Amino acid sequence: MSVTSRASLAICPGQPIGTGVSYRLARLGAVVAFVLLGGLVQAPAQTPAAPATGADAALIEDIVIGSRVLADFGVLDGFGHVSARDPKNPNHFLMSRSLAPALVTPDDIMEFDLDGNAVDARGRTLFLERFIHSEIYKARPDVMSVVHTHSPGVVPFTVSQVPLRPMYHNAAFLAAGAPVWDIRKDFGETDMLVRDPARGKSLAERLGDKSVVLMRGHGDVTVGPSVKMAVFRAYYTDVNARLQSQAIALGGVINYLTPGEGAKADTINFVVLDRIWNLWKMRIAPSLGK
Ligand SMILES: [Zn+2]
Repeated sequence: MSVTSRASLAICPGQPIGTGVSYRLARLGAVVAFVLLGGLVQAPAQTPAAPATGADAALIEDIVIGSRVLADFGVLDGFGHVSARDPKNPNHFLMSRSLAPALVTPDDIMEFDLDGNAVDARGRTLFLERFIHSEIYKARPDVMSVVHTHSPGVVPFTVSQVPLRPMYHNAAFLAAGAPVWDIRKDFGETDMLVRDPARGKSLAERLGDKSVVLMRGHGDVTVGPSVKMAVFRAYYTDVNARLQSQAIALGGVINYLTPGEGAKADTINFVVLDRIWNLWKMRIAPSLGK
């Protein structure tokens, strides 16, 4: 019961005794205090405040920063998630409990095995689509981080016949290809969610050896050798998609990066990654109280 509903009960007509204003205010105060105290007492049982056991604090911080940065840019909204493989135990990965990315803190990060089972759930709610992550980690030993978004810029390219292609150097990784996965092909008419290992496996197969896979009528997944790079790719997949839509609207033939240009430019992206990551980190520092 909420504070509001308890409070309204406390001042509703028909109370057996004490109908005076002072009594009712005193009773309201007592009820509010009771509810607030109750909330404090109950909070640990509902949302245990403890990070994943044994996980590296810097890696957890990267997940938190990546989640908040992508939310800040509008690439993620209330949905989507960032995960990282645990380098100490490559058969486990780390991701938040079910929570809007802008609200993720280190204490929300949980540990999962590659079947998508939480190692220590403690009653916490899990993301339905965690099988995107578990099955990609299973299929791609080189992948250390996975990001899933419902990127508004990308969605048009998941449902049209126009392939997403590299407009500029920051999105050079797209030159290797950005396949589209259609859940309907293998699973018929669904709720569109990757809610079990079979759907995750099918998605991972469509990703193949690429850095990004688009999901028809849904969003995309980017992967990388680090959280920083997977987040970088999620952001620039969205930016590239928006720019490509603008270029298409201008009309005429579009002069995309070639595969050779893409490969060379992507090498530079790895070199400058920390520069932009530090900028993003500074950008969201106030939201972390830093
Ligand atoms: Zn999704």
